[in-house]
Amino acid sequence: MFAARTPTLPPATHTNSYALGGRDVLLVEPATPYEGEQRAWIGWARGLASQGRKPVAIVATHHHADHIGGVDVIARELGLPVWAHVETAKKLRHIEVARHLEDGDSLALDGPIPEEWTVLHTPGHAWGHVCLWQEESRTVVVGDMATSVGTILVAPGDGDMRVYLEQLARLAALDARLALPAHGEPIDAPTALFEKYIAHRGVREQMTLRALPTSPEGALPIDDLVPLAYPDVPVTTWPIAKLSLASHLAKLAEEGRAMEREGRWSRTEEGRTS
Ligand SMILES: [Zn+2]
Repeated sequence: MFAARTPTLPPATHTNSYALGGRDVLLVEPATPYEGEQRAWIGWARGLASQGRKPVAIVATHHHADHIGGVDVIARELGLPVWAHVETAKKLRHIEVARHLEDGDSLALDGPIPEEWTVLHTPGHAWGHVCLWQEESRTVVVGDMATSVGTILVAPGDGDMRVYLEQLARLAALDARLALPAHGEPIDAPTALFEKYIAHRGVREQMTLRALPTSPEGALPIDDLVPLAYPDVPVTTWPIAKLSLASHLAKLAEEGRAMEREGRWSRTEEGRTS
């Protein structure tokens, strides 16, 4: 693991990159846009040779700036191909993505002990998000699906709360022993953390429902709903909370439990009983 400073969501300050493989190596997360940090990153990758390890490709879990900020410089300096999901590739117009990773793809790494990593397409935080799963060691590289520092933002546009929760459940079902997140320390009880995330979002969904007026006449704009649905969050975090709330509302609307008219939200009949 190599942690580089990046423009990420506080309280996180760094993005972790991982060198997977005992001989042939996948470098995950060409993260940092800062020049000094890129030099250190490239130094780390070149230093793998002294352990008899040889990078063969760079993998981006998704397209957010704190994950691909160095991709062009790092790929060019190391002369390595970039692999990513097609939805990520579409956003990385400034570089060529040599291989489109798909759900179920097996990435075989040669070496005295050959390794195999399976691609899991896990949208929800970003449409092109992928995780990498190694069954043998029960290790999963989770990118921004979970973190050991701060929270994961599911914002409208890139994100989708319903899909994110589905994919978290899928990660929980892996029964992984170790999760390697893009932010924070490695997670040694990942299933419990994934389940905690699912439960936490469920509680927030209930708080959102309860914050919604029961009649369309009393409907409220999202700005007024933030302090009601996030009473535990400091004012400085309201802009982030608002994005998350918008994702919860979109899910509730999709399920017919909330409705929006001219920017004002209320509960539906179904939302009143659920
Ligand atoms: Zn992200």
